[in-house]
Amino acid sequence: TYVVTDACIRCKYMDCVEVCPVDCFYEGENMLVINPSECIDCGVCEPECPAEAILPDTENGLEKWLELNRVYSESW
Ligand code: SF4
Repeated sequence: TYVVTDACIRCKYMDCVEVCPVDCFYEGENMLVINPSECIDCGVCEPECPAEAILPDTENGLEKWLELNRVYSESW
């Protein structure tokens, strides 16, 4: 899955939401998040993010953000 990180906070762009083929972006408290159960790992959103806030969860140190994406996206 892909994960939205803190660079998203206060970003006003929604380009990622528009390109996602499965609509798995949700609004978190002050940033967007990706629902890890719905993300199909296509990678289309990553280059669309002007803040470079979207990263694959295979990168190191993203556990906290992955959990936050899960919690916020499932609270809907
Ligand atoms: Fe959506 Fe693909 Fe990005 Fe996952 S990787 S959030 S499916 S655009």
